[in-house]
Amino acid sequence: MVPSLSLKTAALAAVVALVQGCAQTPAQKPSDATVAAHVAAATQAAGTDLGPLLSLCKPAPATRPPQEELDKGLPLLINKPAPPATRAFDNLYFVGADWVSAWAIKTSDGIILIDALNNQVEAAALIEGGMRKLGLDPSQIKYVIVTHGHGDHYGGAPYLAQKYRARVVMSDADWTMTETRLEFATPVWGAPPKRDISVKDGDRVTLGDTTVTLYLTPGHTMGTLSPVFDVSENGRKHRAMLWGGTGFNFGKDVPRLDSYIASTRRMDAVAKAQGIDVLLSNHSNVDSSQAKMAALRQQPAGAANPFVMGTPTVERALSVMGECAQAQRDRFAMQ
Ligand SMILES: [Zn+2]
Repeated sequence: MVPSLSLKTAALAAVVALVQGCAQTPAQKPSDATVAAHVAAATQAAGTDLGPLLSLCKPAPATRPPQEELDKGLPLLINKPAPPATRAFDNLYFVGADWVSAWAIKTSDGIILIDALNNQVEAAALIEGGMRKLGLDPSQIKYVIVTHGHGDHYGGAPYLAQKYRARVVMSDADWTMTETRLEFATPVWGAPPKRDISVKDGDRVTLGDTTVTLYLTPGHTMGTLSPVFDVSENGRKHRAMLWGGTGFNFGKDVPRLDSYIASTRRMDAVAKAQGIDVLLSNHSNVDSSQAKMAALRQQPAGAANPFVMGTPTVERALSVMGECAQAQRDRFAMQ
């Protein structure tokens, strides 16, 4: 057993090395010039419509934010008034806060919620309250998919799990992180949920007529999940991807940025293969969802849905994130 297992592990490592080698352009020694080239490539990919994503190209700190900064800064973000709960597609609803988002997918057999905001207070006011305003019944929440193990996404999950017996879904890596060593901890957030459903790359959550495929996109955390699912608008189908973790707030960690870069490339291939034409986020400053929702609320019925970007634009967005990650990787590699 042991020899065959280690052989298998060695073979797997060789395959991984090969795949990573193929995915990367010939190694260039990190320098100010390579950083500038990646930022220029990101800027070009962003065009005139994806500007907000370029903030990812700003230099990231080499250490995680200290505890006091989190304890002081988070309440300021959390206390900003939330945008109105809004229907984004026939089957997709925004029930989030100003800073962090939660999305409800309505299926023929209940609701799949993606992320649960910072804590119980927000889950009650914004998720339950928002759903009721939109004519959805929160007691129909059957699954809470937590994109990654940071408290702004899991904080309200224990409350919803307990109240509605909703099952909580997270990747194995991030369950382990929340059980052993939190990357960020602050009393502003609710406690992590108890380990429930643990998923691997490519696993699916199916409820009624809807399937959500969960892609493991390590980078922001090592167990970040990016859900992919169908949305519809006036009966017309679109394919949506929610990028599960965006910021480089983990400090100097070159291998993690390598994972992030590989995740953007891999999901670019998935976007192309599946014709993904909607890219969402769990923070509205990443996907500009507040501006898009404001436009939706004002526009006449039948006008083009601003959340539908088209596959080439989704690919450009992934390219912006990948190029900014490469710029940051090179900055850290030089330090
Ligand atoms: Zn996070």
